[in-house]
Amino acid sequence: MDTCIRIALIPGDGVGREVMAEALPLLDWARARGRSLETVDLPYGADHFLATGETLPEVAFASVRDGCDAILFGAVGDPRVPDGRHAEEILLRLRQELELTVNHRPCRSPATRLGTGLDIEVFRENTEGPYCLQGSTEPGRAVDLAIHTEPAVRRLLEAAFRRAARLDRSLTLAHKANVLKHGHGLWLRLFVELRREHPEVDARAMHADALLCALVQGPMSFGVIAADNYLGDLISDLCAGFIGGMGVAPSLSWAPHRPFRCATLAEPVHGSAPDIAGQGLANPVGMILSTALLFRHLGWDPEAEAIEAAVARALESGARTRDLGGTLGCAAMGIAIRTGLR
Ligand code: ATP
Repeated sequence: MDTCIRIALIPGDGVGREVMAEALPLLDWARARGRSLETVDLPYGADHFLATGETLPEVAFASVRDGCDAILFGAVGDPRVPDGRHAEEILLRLRQELELTVNHRPCRSPATRLGTGLDIEVFRENTEGPYCLQGSTEPGRAVDLAIHTEPAVRRLLEAAFRRAARLDRSLTLAHKANVLKHGHGLWLRLFVELRREHPEVDARAMHADALLCALVQGPMSFGVIAADNYLGDLISDLCAGFIGGMGVAPSLSWAPHRPFRCATLAEPVHGSAPDIAGQGLANPVGMILSTALLFRHLGWDPEAEAIEAAVARALESGARTRDLGGTLGCAAMGIAIRTGLR
């Protein structure tokens, strides 16, 4: 019998809650197929923060870290919390303190509007760079710092090299070591070192600005792209644009060195989308494909493949939310996908 997997559920804010509602039936479906899993509902987000002043209480954080195997996350961000404090203390804290260094963001047909064949996987470092929250906003002394450390950069690059080797795809490092001599100099040095250890990978380093231009001109020529937190965020959103937009892009973060029991977090690439929240308009595909990524990470390959095939089937049959030019709401799109689940 499988060991029971405990998954913490954090729907969060805005469309995060709406798309999470379409992922939950997939957990029941996996359970019905014999997968042993239990879930823990966590209410943290803007509503909870505004009602109680709590973002992610210490005891809840510790119970996720030590008592769960993975987190299924919707999105956080709410205009009622303009400084985004709760988002930082929930999502950025989980990524940083669980050391979820590797953020894998595949952008793949068949969700694409470009036709078939686009298949780019962004490996984004998820805990450092300018997203380390170090600095000050004090008037007259505002300053922002970026952190790049050797263990985190090495872990991200190793994961990207392993993935490129496994897929037999090229690997491109996005960097600006010509100007960011310290931080990106480290990225380039480790990249060159690992390239020597992986002669089987067709690996090249490109200045990030030139890479963006090349990506727009010829996205099909890219395979795996590795980047720091900031560049990876930008590049993966651009790639999401190639396959239909923010609503269809999934992601999975993990800690390859497994410092804690909870070493995985699945979440769509998009945020809480306040402009469409509460209207049932969100596309649940990114969330549903993130759930498939989590299942594959847990070794549940048949379930992951079945979900991906069901998404492809629904899109091929013409099921579309508004962002993809269709008329279906979030729940109807979820049903269209689950109808094709075999
Ligand atoms: P964050 O920085 O938290 O990732 P963001 O600034 O990138 O957030 P999003 O919340 O992702 O912003 O929204 C960006 C745009 O994408 C918005 O116009 C939003 O409506 C759209 N969008 C985001 N998620 C979805 C979705 N699931 N379905 C349809 N449109 C979406």
